[in-house]
Amino acid sequence: MAEDLRQRYAEALADAANSQTFKKPGPAWDGFRNMWLGYADATLAVRDEELERLRAEGKRLGYELEQWHAAYGEKALPGMLARLRKAEAANARTRALHPSAEEAHAAGQVLCVECAQPAPCRTRQAHDDTGGTDHGG
Ligand SMILES: [Zn+2]
Repeated sequence: MAEDLRQRYAEALADAANSQTFKKPGPAWDGFRNMWLGYADATLAVRDEELERLRAEGKRLGYELEQWHAAYGEKALPGMLARLRKAEAANARTRALHPSAEEAHAAGQVLCVECAQPAPCRTRQAHDDTGGTDHGG
């Protein structure tokens, strides 16, 4: 571990706690400086753990991207994102065509304004991914 990094962490922690430890000269403050260096070590240990996790995650994502490129080609992602945005816009337009009525039906049910089926109607369910499979209402 870079000693100056350890020192920077210790000083930053001390500063954050409004400690004057690193601003005081002389060996009388060594005990406090060592205490803050210990806190720095603990902080660095957590940081190192997190960095290791992120490295593993980066490696995993790199592997997945390689697999993606092998399966679909280098240029597939931009085209797929454009299609996804168009599909999401179409989904939003269809959902907007089948809003629930503001007032409850006499039977106590809220109905779709467009198709008069109990809300959420099957069209909304299909677009909300809640079980509907076709228009049907
Ligand atoms: Zn409907």
